Amino acid sequence: MTDVFSAPGRFYRGNLHTHSTRSDGALDPGEVCRRYRDEGYDFMALTDHFIGLYKFPITDTRKFRAPGFTTILGAELHTGRQSNGDLWHILAVGLPEAFTPPEAPHFYPVEGSESAADLAQRARDAGAFVAIAHPQWSGLTLDDARTIDAAHAVETYNHGCWAGCDRPDGFAINDLLLSEGRRINLVATDDAHFTEPDHFGGWVMVKAVENDPEALVEALKSGLSYSSQGPEIRRVELTGKAVEVECSAAASVIVQGHGQAAKAVHGLSMTRASVPLDRLARSPWLRVTVVDRAGRRAWSNPLWR
Ligand SMILES: [Zn+2]
Ligand SMILES: [Zn+2]
Repeated sequence: MTDVFSAPGRFYRGNLHTHSTRSDGALDPGEVCRRYRDEGYDFMALTDHFIGLYKFPITDTRKFRAPGFTTILGAELHTGRQSNGDLWHILAVGLPEAFTPPEAPHFYPVEGSESAADLAQRARDAGAFVAIAHPQWSGLTLDDARTIDAAHAVETYNHGCWAGCDRPDGFAINDLLLSEGRRINLVATDDAHFTEPDHFGGWVMVKAVENDPEALVEALKSGLSYSSQGPEIRRVELTGKAVEVECSAAASVIVQGHGQAAKAVHGLSMTRASVPLDRLARSPWLRVTVVDRAGRRAWSNPLWR
C-alpha cells in the first residue's frame, strides 16, 4: 500500500457528507458550497438523501466550483433493512448523475428492496468511493457491517451525529472489521444539515496531485487520506520497535491495534512522538490518533504489516 505521507501531491481538505434543501438540509446547494469554500475547504461532496420523497437527488454542484475549490457529485443511498429493522444509510462520493435509484420511496424500509450490499456494489461499480455511514447512529451491528463488501471505508466520526445525538462513533465497528482482516479505511465527515451545530467539525485530508474530483476520488479509494477535527498528521512510520509520528502540536499520540492493544505517549506541544510497540507488536494492523490540547483529534488510516 502506498504511504500517504510520501505519496506525490499535497493534502486537500474536504467534507464528504453534506445535505442541502434538495433533501432535508436547511440551505440551498449554492449556499452550502459557499460556506465550505469560505471556511477554507478545498472540496466538498453534496450527498443528499437519495430517496423518492426528494426525487432521487444527485445534485449538480459543478457550477459552484471556483478557483481553489471543487465539488464531487454524490449521494447518501438508502435501501433494505438493517438487522434492527431500520433503513440502511450508505455514503457514495463520486456518483454519476444517472445512477439508477433503488426502491426507496421514503425513510422507511420496503420489503423486497435491493440489499444494501448490492446497492453499495452498484455505487462502487459506477465509480464511487463508498463508506458505511454513521454506524453508531444507525445502531449497526458487526454482522450488518460485514455484508457491505463494496465499502472502501467506515465513517468513523460523524460530526452531525455528535452534535445531534452524541453518537458519532464508527471506530468500534471499524476496529472489529480490521481485526477480521478486512482492509478498510476510515473517514471523518460533517453530515451537515445546517439545522444544528453540525458543520466544520470533521473532515478528510486527501493526498492528490491536483484538486480535481476524479483525482480526489481515486486517492480516497486508494486510502491516500487521513481524517481530522483539527490536528495535522505529517508522517507515520513503522520501525522495528515503534511507530514514529510527526504532527501539529499534540498533547497525546496514541496507536491502536488488535483487541486490547493500544499505547499512548503524552506530552506538551509534541510535534513528534515515538510510540513503543509493546503489545502492539503482534497486531496485523495499527492506526494512529493525534489529540491536541483542545481535545480535537486526527486519525490515520490503518497500516498493515
Ligand atoms: Zn444518514
Ligand atoms: Zn447524512
